[in-house]
Amino acid sequence: MEQAKEELLDWQGHGCSVMELSHRSKAFIEVAEQAEADLRDLLSIPEQYRVLFTHGGGRGQFSAVPMNLSKESASADYLVSGSWSSAALTEARKYLQVNQVAEATIVDGVKRMPDRGDWQCDPKAAYFHYCPNETVDGIAIEQIPDTGDVPLVADMSSTILSSPLDISRFGLIYAGAQKNIGPSGLSVVIVKDELLGQARKQTPSIFDYQLQASQGSMFNTPATFAWYLAGLVFKWLKAQGGVEEMQRRNADKSSLLYGCIDSSDFYLNAIHRDYRSKMNVPFQLHNPELDKAFLQQAEEAGLTALAGHRSVGGMRASIYNAMPVAGVQALVEFMQDFERKMG
Ligand code: PMP
Repeated sequence: MEQAKEELLDWQGHGCSVMELSHRSKAFIEVAEQAEADLRDLLSIPEQYRVLFTHGGGRGQFSAVPMNLSKESASADYLVSGSWSSAALTEARKYLQVNQVAEATIVDGVKRMPDRGDWQCDPKAAYFHYCPNETVDGIAIEQIPDTGDVPLVADMSSTILSSPLDISRFGLIYAGAQKNIGPSGLSVVIVKDELLGQARKQTPSIFDYQLQASQGSMFNTPATFAWYLAGLVFKWLKAQGGVEEMQRRNADKSSLLYGCIDSSDFYLNAIHRDYRSKMNVPFQLHNPELDKAFLQQAEEAGLTALAGHRSVGGMRASIYNAMPVAGVQALVEFMQDFERKMG
């Protein structure tokens, strides 16, 4: 953002902002291509995958995926680990039959996914959809599901670029940009070539992967400024040491926070240890009557945006790539302090 601020009014001597450039100009096309090249580099995206910079956020892809990857008579598998995969399933029902493979359940007071052997998969499914990191619930599925010949589709909105990824295991990955990529409104789709060209004929052209791939994501005017900012984030990530370094930092941050929660009788995280998110850490106070005081005092200490999602309450610390280790240390110190005072 500092770099964007510096060059906001005069981008690289052009005498105008990058947001004023035509998306068809040579200058902007260079920005766009560099961003894609850096993303490919960061995630080691194999050649046979296309990268699209598209519109409509994460939810746009809830519809785009079934429209592009299935016929009306088809069925698709959906693994439901929390509220976003559940919302994706609900949207997909408009377009095809949906088979809920399994659902997160509470066992012995903690939430977890059923074991792989208990999933009800359909070997004829058009695709298998899951969400490796549930932003609201704080549930992560680290192990990539083996779906055989069924293309694997992942909503990585809140986890992309947080660690290295074996892209070749996936048919399609999508992510709304606003967590680890850049400004909201942009979404990134990484799709294997062989899945292109099957869109239903009613598919809005801007959501047709084949069309967007053939036009370099410029069938209509893309979110140019968001694309440029995403490019700056990719450069920043590379300078920090790439996704390997992000993985180290994210592991440090999350273990610091879970360590604080687990070592106290004052705080609680009710997710099974094998499924805990490293990006979104929900936690409750054993005495919820103190929630308001916690949030208010945290805010006074400069620790903001800690209220849990409105659908679940409690607290949630979202510790995406942009959150430094020092930010989590400050939170942990505040939590220990609050416990000493109020516990
Ligand atoms: N999927 C996940 C995992 C998300 O976290 C979100 C947004 N928080 C969405 C989908 C929806 O994204 P958008 O608001 O960009 O449509």
